[in-house]
Amino acid sequence: MHCYDVVIIGAGPSGATAAYHCAKSGLDTLFVDKSQFPRYKGCGGGLSEQAMSYLDFPVNDKVIERDVYAARIRFGTEAIEVQKPYRIAALVTRSKFDYFLVQRAIEVGAKFLENERVTELRVSDECVDITTNKKKLQAKLVIGADGSQGVSFRSVSDRLRRGEYAVGVVTENTADNSEIDKYIFNSVEIHFGVTTMGYGWVFPHEGYLNVGVAGIADKLRNPKKILTDFIRERGFHGQYRFHAHRLPIYGAVKKKVRDRIILVGDAAGYVDSFLGEGIAYAILSGKIAAGVCYEALQHNDGWREDFLKLYNDMCYEQFEHNLRYSLVSAKLMHRFPNLFLSLMASDENTVDRFLEIPAGRLTHRGYLQWMIPRLPSCLLRRTVKKMLQWKDIG
Ligand SMILES: Cc1cc2nc3c(=O)[nH]c(=O)nc-3n(C[C@H](O)[C@H](O)[C@H](O)COP(=O)(O)OP(=O)(O)OC[C@H]3O[C@@H](n4cnc5c(N)ncnc54)[C@H](O)[C@@H]3O)c2cc1C
Repeated sequence: MHCYDVVIIGAGPSGATAAYHCAKSGLDTLFVDKSQFPRYKGCGGGLSEQAMSYLDFPVNDKVIERDVYAARIRFGTEAIEVQKPYRIAALVTRSKFDYFLVQRAIEVGAKFLENERVTELRVSDECVDITTNKKKLQAKLVIGADGSQGVSFRSVSDRLRRGEYAVGVVTENTADNSEIDKYIFNSVEIHFGVTTMGYGWVFPHEGYLNVGVAGIADKLRNPKKILTDFIRERGFHGQYRFHAHRLPIYGAVKKKVRDRIILVGDAAGYVDSFLGEGIAYAILSGKIAAGVCYEALQHNDGWREDFLKLYNDMCYEQFEHNLRYSLVSAKLMHRFPNLFLSLMASDENTVDRFLEIPAGRLTHRGYLQWMIPRLPSCLLRRTVKKMLQWKDIG
C-alpha cells in the first residue's frame, strides 16, 4: 500500500493550510474531508487582518465580501461606535473562503479526497493506518485538522468538559445590499452581556447579515431562544435556519501531539477565548505543523512524540502565550461582567485600542497592560457620567 509522507484529516483553514505548506515543501501530501467542497460552515466569517497576514498569498477579491473599518460595541443600553483609518478585518462566506484555501493547496501539489470520512487511526512503529468509510490509507505522519470533536482529537486528547467549550448558534438573514449598507455598512456589531463568556453579533456580508450568539456551554441554556430574542430585538423578521457548532474557547488542549500525530486549529483548542476568533490560529498552527512534519521526516526518530513536541514550543512562542491573555480577559469578563463590559462600552479609547487586536497591531497582553492602569480613572469617569445622567433624569 502507498504510504504518504503526511495525511491531513480535515480541509478547513487549518487542514488546507497544512496541506499547502506540506506540498509546497515537497512532501507527498494527501488531505481528506468528509464533506464535498465547497461546503457550508456555520461561522461569522470574520477574517481578521492578522489572519490574512498568516497566509502566503492575498485573499481573492471575489472571496472578500466586505472590508471592516469600524465596530459598534453594545452592552445593555450603552453603545459605542469606533471607526479606524485602516482595515481591521474582512468578511467572507466560509464555503467560498475554505474552498479558496483548498484550491491553493491542490495547486501546489497536495492530493485531495473529499466526501470521505476518516473513521479510525491506528499508530504503529512503522506508520499510521487510516481507515475511511471507503478505503484504507497509510501515512508516516498525520495532521489532525478535523475540529474539536474529530477522530484525530479523540486519538490524542481527553474529551472536553462542558465548561471548556462554547456553543455558537448562527443564522443568515437575507437582505438587499442597500439595506445592509444603511444598517451597518463597513462596521460589525458586537453585543456583550447577551451570553456568559461570549457575545451576540451582526456581521454584514454580500446579500445577507450573519447574526449569531455564542457563550460557554455549561452556562448557555436554550441558545436558540437567545438568538431568536436577539434577532427580534434588532428588528429583523423572517424565517431563520439556525446552525449550532462547538467552539473550544477555554485554552489550548494539554496534549496536542503523540507519536506520528499533530493536532491543529480547533482540534488543538487554538481559539481566541475573548473574541471567539479561530481562523487566524487555524492557519498559523497548520503552517507550523507542516514545518515540523518536514523537519521530522529528515530525522530517523522524527515521528516520535518527543520530537513532535517541537510543535508545542513553536506554537507557544508564536501565538499561544498571547491566547492565554485572551483567556484572562474572557475570565475577567465572566467574573465581573458589569464592571468589565460596561467599561468597554462606555469609554471610546478602550474600544479604539481593543480594535487594534484583530488588526494585528496589539496583543491581548499589550491590551491588558494598557487597560489595567487606566481602570481607576475609567471607573471614576463612568461614575460621574452616571451621576450626571441621574441628575438629568431628576
Ligand atoms: C458560530 C461560530 C462563529 C464563528 N465565527 C468566527 C469568526 O467570525 N471568525 C473566526 O476567525 N472564527 C470564527 N469561528 C471559529 C472558526 O470557525 C474555527 O475556529 C475554524 O473554523 C477552525 O478551523 P479548523 O480548520 O481547525 O476546523 P474546521 O473549519 O471546523 O474544519 C474541520 C474540517 O474537518 C472535516 N472533518 C471533520 N471530521 C472529519 C472526519 N472524520 N473525516 C474527514 N473530515 C472531517 C470537516 O468537514 C471540516 O471541513 C466561529 C465558530 C463558530 C462555532
